[in-house]
Amino acid sequence: MIKLYENKELCYGCTACISVCPQNAIKMIPDEEGFFYPYIAEKICISCGACVGICDKIKATKKNGRSIAYAFQCNNTNIRRKSSSGGAFYLLATSMINKGGMVCGAVLDCQSFNVKHIISNNPSDIERMMGSKYVQSDMGNCLNEVKKYVLNGYQVLFSGTGCQVAACRNVVGENDLLLTCEVLCHGTPSPLIWKQYINSVIEQYSSNIRDISFRSKNKGWHNFGMEIQFENGTKQQETLDDNPFLCGFLRNLYLRPTCYDCKYASQERCSDICIGDFWGYNEAFSDIIDDDTGISALIVSTEKGKLALRDILKKAKIYPVSIQNMIPNNGPLRKSVDWPDNRNNFWMDFGSNNFDFVKKKYMYPKKYSFLQRLRKSRVGQLLRRIRNIIRGR
Ligand SMILES: Cc1cc2nc3c(=O)[nH]c(=O)nc-3n(C[C@H](O)[C@H](O)[C@H](O)COP(=O)(O)OP(=O)(O)OC[C@H]3O[C@@H](n4cnc5c(N)ncnc54)[C@H](O)[C@@H]3O)c2cc1C
Ligand code: SF4
Ligand code: SF4
Ligand code: SF4
Repeated sequence: MIKLYENKELCYGCTACISVCPQNAIKMIPDEEGFFYPYIAEKICISCGACVGICDKIKATKKNGRSIAYAFQCNNTNIRRKSSSGGAFYLLATSMINKGGMVCGAVLDCQSFNVKHIISNNPSDIERMMGSKYVQSDMGNCLNEVKKYVLNGYQVLFSGTGCQVAACRNVVGENDLLLTCEVLCHGTPSPLIWKQYINSVIEQYSSNIRDISFRSKNKGWHNFGMEIQFENGTKQQETLDDNPFLCGFLRNLYLRPTCYDCKYASQERCSDICIGDFWGYNEAFSDIIDDDTGISALIVSTEKGKLALRDILKKAKIYPVSIQNMIPNNGPLRKSVDWPDNRNNFWMDFGSNNFDFVKKKYMYPKKYSFLQRLRKSRVGQLLRRIRNIIRGR
């Protein structure tokens, strides 16, 4: 009997095994935490081993060697505001479709609230792909779709987490037509907890939801938060420190088990281009100004990545930095997050009580002092900027 993984910490849910199965014998089924895992229908399986083979290849995917790091800011302020950091993804994606290529990335379906990968060359779909969605994305049949387009001679930009990029590279095979763009990844939260959270806000506001942004910059990039627009015209705007779902995410309570021992958390990347938030950006001689609308940390690791960057240079400000400047404020460049002591209790309480119980017990925002709030506010950021100018940084 074919076994795909020994324990759940070893399966990313990347769907690569499904995409290579000649018998269509593998299905993704959610576990009690809401994460999807592959299951083999033994009656159909012919024990060819293709699924295990691709999974082993993904785990052995070579990281790229020397990388070049940049601070990056799209010139268009509106694009920056809509993007999570400096708008690098939007420029790469539009450049790709302008060349006749396709883009594969994650969107939020506002009917089902599922996060899923789609492939498209439609500008309105690129807009839906913009912005981080802090939920594990369902890859559907996208890996096979990307492969099909590449084999038919299309250039494709695939964007996703490190493990998804490794899966895509291995399913498609090394090919100049495939450009991979990886988001620096803290970890992906449970789709089940996401759904429970969404149901709780629908009940609270007695209205269906029209739109959601996980990375609203209404209070600035540094003080980002979740914005939910309801069909009855009301709006919920909570910052990173006030929103229970984001609080639980950053307390690492409901990330996929693989995320606590992520082999993609290091300064060597497995993509052509990797993008994150440039937290702690502080370059005195660059023309990139931190105006609180977002700056991307961009890491280019291949010739393909360099060429893609060259295509969008006219639409952005870019400044070379040492990758060492990014590391202190960006965990995924150092190591994966720790398994928190209370993760098991969270799930036990969720199983034996309900979502409201765990929301109150584990996800409620921490109370910040006046000084801590001031430090995080725009006034605090302005004071920090003035202090840095005085210190000549
Ligand atoms: C789950 C997750 C965790 C992250 N953790 C960190 C972190 O710890 N530190 C850091 O610096 N940056 C992190 N990022 C990346 C960061 O939030 C921005 O995505 C990145 O800076 C790119 O910003 P942008 O302005 O260029 O483009 P954006 O328009 O913001 O980027 C959109 C791209 O992100 C992809 N994407 C969105 N949601 C998902 C998802 N659920 N799964 C896969 N791909 C997705 C889309 O396909 C699209 O290509 C994370 C992103 C995600 C999705
Ligand atoms: S290929 Fe991906 S989804 Fe399939 S078993 Fe391996 S890690 Fe899990
Ligand atoms: S061994 Fe072959 S037929 Fe069986 S599930 Fe894996 S890929 Fe499919
Ligand atoms: S933290 Fe690692 S394992 Fe988890 S989704 Fe991100 S890249 Fe994949």
